[in-house]
Amino acid sequence: MRGLMMDTQLTITGIMRHAELNYPDTEVVSVTADNPLHRYTYKDWFRRSRQLANALKKLGAVEDDCIATLAWNDYRHLELYYATSCSGMICHTINPRLFPEQVAYIVNHAEDKFVFVDLLVYKLMEALHTNLPSVKGYIILTDAEHMPETSLPNVYCYEDLIAAESDQFEWPDLDENTACVLCYTSGTTGNPKGVLYSHRSAVLHAYAGSLPSVLNLKTADVLLPIVPMFHVNAWGLPYAAPINGCKLVMPGPKMADGETLHFLLNSEKVTFSAGVPTVWLALLDYLDKENKSLDTLRRLTVGGAACPLSIIERFRDDYDVEVMQGWGMTEMSPLGTLFSLKAGMEDLSKDEKAQLQLKQGRGVFGCEMKIVDEDNNELPWDGVAFGALKVRGPWVCSAYFKADNTDSHDADGWFDTGDVANIDAQGYMQITDRTKDVIKSGGEWISSIELENIAVDHPDVTETAVIGRYHPKWTERPLLIVISHADSELNKADILKWFDGKVATWMIPNDVVFVDELPHTATGKLNKLSLRDQFKDYQFPDA
Ligand code: AMP
Repeated sequence: MRGLMMDTQLTITGIMRHAELNYPDTEVVSVTADNPLHRYTYKDWFRRSRQLANALKKLGAVEDDCIATLAWNDYRHLELYYATSCSGMICHTINPRLFPEQVAYIVNHAEDKFVFVDLLVYKLMEALHTNLPSVKGYIILTDAEHMPETSLPNVYCYEDLIAAESDQFEWPDLDENTACVLCYTSGTTGNPKGVLYSHRSAVLHAYAGSLPSVLNLKTADVLLPIVPMFHVNAWGLPYAAPINGCKLVMPGPKMADGETLHFLLNSEKVTFSAGVPTVWLALLDYLDKENKSLDTLRRLTVGGAACPLSIIERFRDDYDVEVMQGWGMTEMSPLGTLFSLKAGMEDLSKDEKAQLQLKQGRGVFGCEMKIVDEDNNELPWDGVAFGALKVRGPWVCSAYFKADNTDSHDADGWFDTGDVANIDAQGYMQITDRTKDVIKSGGEWISSIELENIAVDHPDVTETAVIGRYHPKWTERPLLIVISHADSELNKADILKWFDGKVATWMIPNDVVFVDELPHTATGKLNKLSLRDQFKDYQFPDA
């Protein structure tokens, strides 16, 4: 027998309606290239989204069209999110920091019809537009006063474009499975792959993310998303904020600028923020150097890469801020796990708690996970057994956009994340490596991430990478690559000694190379593919 409840659709339009009625006066504060501090309310956000929807229609955009954005976190990008998706179009967010060839590949693969581009990025499009046959026009995200001279064809000024339009718009009734946003993965291997989210997946993900045991979002919260809106929808915060009525503070192009972040955090009374480890390190360094405090921030989320212990300890001890590590990926919208304590853990010492914060967190309802061995047999949750991490759930992708390749999913529909992990009896998951980065030494697995985490905690070390290199006796052994502080005299023996007692002796790297820089992907992750290429002829001294 079927239940007798209404089958209303879960759509982003529904979020917009709820937010406009319930929280019209909630603020959105943004830094943009043309305004150091723009301020308006939810009412303005959705009124202007309707003007933008009218403008898109007049330009000739129709349902299912991909509309590209190359933009930072600000109010115009929020308007684009809602105007496109709620019109039945697809907001295709593109990372402006990608290599130009990758941007061209992505625009052509998605067959984008219009490109909305930030004032700081339009020159990139000037260099590319002759190779983008599907694009009918470019809109620069600024006003008439700041509109640049440009060689782009069919170019419009965003503010002029929407000013001419009515603020009344009849949003279509969409099926909840309609596509809403397209985001390509960073692509450290091969071409980037498109992940196509639906209204339903975005709403469910934002619901789950808001829960008390996840991000614990309340109406009184003030959110500063430092994670970019072009990277997995800023982890869903542009949807979770209006569901809960939270004030939004958007850092625009200043995402890695400690001074601006500190200013926004204190002056706008931010209570919650989210970002990758690199931005937190930039902020901590600024705070330490300038002897500043954090007045209202009490919790933050770190994800996208493993969080070093130093970030957890420095925020805890110097600024009274709790760090919640989370894990996920573009294919998962992105949330899979997040740190929170369970009942009975209130009395853990701060060091015991930090050890749990160092893990990637506990599963969020809606995203199932399991670890499996090489034969796809499920492994126990004992904190010891580790294997390939697989997930499934309503906000996990079922296939890539316009791709026939299905080897990322098994016969039962589980998605292979490419991460290797263990899960303890309490449900805390710990990533030990990427499948391709694990070092296989004499048949035993060594976690490159574990070695990197230990090395980066050395006071003289800025950044590290560990890769496996050929060794005639062990097949592969770990090579440690280090950037040390400019004024340090750190040598090979010192850093290798640092590992004593922290890992089994046989896991300690065989050699160390000091470098001035390490290669990163456009989303700031270590590019191990490029590193392996750089060290392809390397030979261990003991080989
Ligand atoms: P992306 O799709 O670019 O967000 O990358 C997703 C990948 O980033 C995951 O599969 C992990 O390998 C890595 N990642 C994300 N969060 C974490 C974390 N907290 N700790 C370690 N690795 C992470």
